Amino acid sequence: MTNLTSQNWQVKDEQYVWHSMKPYNPNATTIIQKSKGAWITDIDGKRYLDAMSGLWCVNVGYGREELAKVAYEQLLENAYTPLSVGHIPAIQLSEKISELLGDDYVVFFSNSGSEANEAAFKIARQYHQQKGHTNRTKFISRYRAYHGNTMGALAATGQAQRKYKYEPLAPGFLHVAPPDAYRANEDHITEPTALPSVQAIDNVMTWESSETIAGVILEPIITGGGVIMPHEDYLRGVKAVCEKHGALLIVDEVICGFGRTGKAFGFQNYGIQPDIVTMAKGLTSAYMPLSATAVRREIYEAFNGSEEYDFFRHVNTFGGSPAACAVALKNIEIMENENLFARSEEMGAIIHAELQERLKDHPNVGNIRGKGLLIGIELVSDKNSKAPLDVTTVNKVIALCKEQGLIIGKNGVTVAGFNNTLTLAPPLIISLAEKDMIVEKLTHALNELLQKA
Ligand code: PMP
Repeated sequence: MTNLTSQNWQVKDEQYVWHSMKPYNPNATTIIQKSKGAWITDIDGKRYLDAMSGLWCVNVGYGREELAKVAYEQLLENAYTPLSVGHIPAIQLSEKISELLGDDYVVFFSNSGSEANEAAFKIARQYHQQKGHTNRTKFISRYRAYHGNTMGALAATGQAQRKYKYEPLAPGFLHVAPPDAYRANEDHITEPTALPSVQAIDNVMTWESSETIAGVILEPIITGGGVIMPHEDYLRGVKAVCEKHGALLIVDEVICGFGRTGKAFGFQNYGIQPDIVTMAKGLTSAYMPLSATAVRREIYEAFNGSEEYDFFRHVNTFGGSPAACAVALKNIEIMENENLFARSEEMGAIIHAELQERLKDHPNVGNIRGKGLLIGIELVSDKNSKAPLDVTTVNKVIALCKEQGLIIGKNGVTVAGFNNTLTLAPPLIISLAEKDMIVEKLTHALNELLQKA
């Protein structure tokens, strides 16, 4: 089997593998065989600089021996203990996560970002019940945001094309327009709770009645919807509004966490402390499936005294497995030893400045934005009207980058007409030379576009 030619692998891939994010019979999916650092190599030996870290997750880069070793050792030492019982890696990791969050949190483990969000919704609802507020069941999230693929997380997601085929979804999720510093600039407003994007949430809470709202879920920066930047005071405003109405603030750090935005967590850029934080991807840099839902101790304490059949009824077989926790701990140790949060901030600022310099006069580059190594380049057909560039042309830029050995992403919301933001989220370990390649090849692809126009 292993001696098949690359064409034969391709045939078998098309025959047996149902790929995500691809149409039926996708034809010639790239099949990756090896990876090291920021580079991935396909079965024909072609190398690509992966400026998307897989799916925004391989933050410490590929091929880290320390992570493989710690997984191997932990699997031999103790392969499995469910978290109805205890094990040392889970204890150490929970304490470490609480420390990184900068306050006193208790951690619940599961397997994916979606499940971490499901757990957050269930914890929030039950927390309110424990407090005697049985009507507090609804959640507010934002259009254009993605929070996962399970029925509750999908209901929280604000992207029509991801969900309309799967309705009915979990009830009780309301949406408001996201903040968008490019298309709905709020810079002239100085009071956080006076921002229209914050008032949208305040109003929904009032109109629906505060007594029915369990919480708000948001990413510090909407990633999958197109790296949408909020006003610098937006999170402060939302936090104040949540406090006013007695709702919990759940921050989804599945992509923004673990250095992506230049801090341990994205919310730390905005001077707030959430009630619940969900995380996945960068927690293990994708070396193992693991996610976590961290709750402020006060929320955990509300479950104190619950009757035998009244505890938090959410169990999963694999969540917080010893090897996954051990890998996460080592992954965080690498990030700290190599100073990767600060590195992300610095390298991101350099890429941002260089792209700005090289592309400021490009007629299709409407906006370059982001924090740390989370960067979005929004393409428009007209800079004044900000009309989005058509998806076919955006796809050409991505294909031109790939031809030159650079993988970049594309985000936005297709049905609503926005799928025009190129995304960069390279591993946090990229070198200056690799940074140059990203800037060079992307600029080249965008300039080619002009010549072909
Ligand atoms: N939240 C956000 C912000 C995400 O980007 C994702 C996945 N891309 C999820 C949740 C769901 O994570 P998972 O794919 O691990 O279920």
